[in-house]
Amino acid sequence: MSFIVAIDGPAGSGKGTIAQIIANKLNFTNIDTGAMYRCVALYLLENNIELNNESEIINNLEKININIDENEKKVYMNDKDVTDKIRKPDVSKVVSQVSSVKEVRLKLIDLQRKMASGKNVVMEGRDITTVVFPNADIKIYLDARLDVRARRRYIEIVEKNKDIKYEDVLNNIIIRDKNDKEKEFGALKIANDATVIDTTYLNIEQVADKIISIIKMKMKG
Ligand code: C5P
Repeated sequence: MSFIVAIDGPAGSGKGTIAQIIANKLNFTNIDTGAMYRCVALYLLENNIELNNESEIINNLEKININIDENEKKVYMNDKDVTDKIRKPDVSKVVSQVSSVKEVRLKLIDLQRKMASGKNVVMEGRDITTVVFPNADIKIYLDARLDVRARRRYIEIVEKNKDIKYEDVLNNIIIRDKNDKEKEFGALKIANDATVIDTTYLNIEQVADKIISIIKMKMKG
């Protein structure tokens, strides 16, 4: 038996932190699918693959092996710990271009379904409620005002002692939102049957509690 909580939403909507809290509280497996797209982008950058050359990207896909260690909270790409590297601005800058390639998506969707198989999971990303698990038990779409999302990301990065300008974070989010919403395959959109939560004026705990109560109600049948 497996129970799937699918959460989608744009960058900075709170998905990652909220999914982690829910998974901890309910003892579910948390799967961050953005980290997987970031691994592919990192591999392509490190190997100097021309990002406009789709066939070269496709030819390299089988060389990329991704593992997420949920207990350690670490992401491995070809057995290397890339947990911090995949969050760097150079990766954030190109990841939405890389994630627009259909073959990249097909590989990762397959992996995401395998990772969730037989488990209770909270999976977050952009196409989880629509493509990866259109029949998920719970579907949530998180959103927040653009400046609030950018401010959250900015604080997250600065707290890790990284030097970055707010305007750069804001611009990256604007570009990624556009790319992610306009993709031909797997675009970020609100599933018809998703519960939409605007997190602009809510704190993380309030949102997590709201979703947990939706999950508990569904589990009781
Ligand atoms: O969630 P995060 O911001 O780390 O995701 C990074 C990028 O990965 C997104 O901007 C998007 O281009 C891509 N992505 C995706 N589909 C998902 C998760 C992430 O296309 N399910």
